[in-house]
Amino acid sequence: MIPFLDLRAVNAQYQKEIQEAINRTINSGWYILGDEVKNFEMEFAEYCGVKHAIGVANGLDALTLILKACGIGQGDEVIVPSNTFIASILAISASGATPILVEPDIRTYNINPKKIEEKITEKTKAIIVVHLYGQVANMNAIKAIATKYNLKIIEDAAQAHGAVYGDKRAGSLGDAAGFSFYPSKNLGALGDGGAITTNDDELAEKLRALRNYGSHEKYKNLFKGVNSRLDEIQAAILRVKLKYLDKDNEKRRQIAEYYLNHIKNEKVILPIIENGNRLSHVWHLFVVRVENRERFQKYLKENGIQTSIHYPIPPHKQKAYEEWNHCSFSISEKIHKTVISLPISPVLAFEHVKKIVKIINEY
Ligand SMILES: *Cc1c(COP(=O)(O)O)cnc(C)c1O
Repeated sequence: MIPFLDLRAVNAQYQKEIQEAINRTINSGWYILGDEVKNFEMEFAEYCGVKHAIGVANGLDALTLILKACGIGQGDEVIVPSNTFIASILAISASGATPILVEPDIRTYNINPKKIEEKITEKTKAIIVVHLYGQVANMNAIKAIATKYNLKIIEDAAQAHGAVYGDKRAGSLGDAAGFSFYPSKNLGALGDGGAITTNDDELAEKLRALRNYGSHEKYKNLFKGVNSRLDEIQAAILRVKLKYLDKDNEKRRQIAEYYLNHIKNEKVILPIIENGNRLSHVWHLFVVRVENRERFQKYLKENGIQTSIHYPIPPHKQKAYEEWNHCSFSISEKIHKTVISLPISPVLAFEHVKKIVKIINEY
């Protein structure tokens, strides 16, 4: 069986260095908010091209804390795509604000800027832009709207570490960005982890306190903060893997390009790169659309190919958001019914990629 994602093999690439980083942390005797987190924050900020990176416990917390630090909460509205991993929406709910769903562009799966303006009210405070599957959203169009209505732009960059837009990287394209280092992400820890990036000094200062009980100085609390810190040991591991992120992303691009150039089956709708710049996509996932997906998935499985679905149920149809269950977001529903993710990762062997293409073309 060709696995959908072999995480053991992904990390085995750097096992010796990762082991050394873990040992260094153990021997330091300092396990929370020490030199590893500080250095990772500096290195990740530099990588993203921003002034500040703030390590936090996970991607959901990153987004929730950004909203809190911006003073967004009860009575406010935040725009978010209707097709995203549910964490983008849960962050808004956790802040106390109301999520306002906007349909995607079916060609790119990212939020459709043309549909944002009609959802803006006096209560709208921010847009959460998700770079879904690793492709940067149409930021020029979104920025124009945000400027016109004086809205904050918050990037959900959990799937887009290293993606480039113009001459900037994801994480530097809005007021602040949330990253996840969940193990399967393009930059993944060996456990949970996350970060916030921003160029805003004041916001960064506040976020550093918010993640640590609202405190800059031990036992002095300025805010009602939370405990959401990136572990030293995960930061040490991430410092190793960050060095190889561009190389790993390039491997993903090569696989994606092979799929795009060689999958030829009219039943299979391939993804596109919206702005023509191959660097604007880091292929966290390679998602195709197929009618009668279950049949296609079964066929691939019978031929030794494991696939996955991102995601099977749209957020507005989840039990957790019962209040939206009657709503219709037809593009989102169509996407959720037909998407299927093919194997892609920095360690996927090229003969496997070729085999996957051959099997798909014979479908
Ligand atoms: C993974 C992910 C998150 C949440 O990250 P966690 O670290 O799992 O909390 C948020 N948004 C998107 C788009 C994601 O893919």
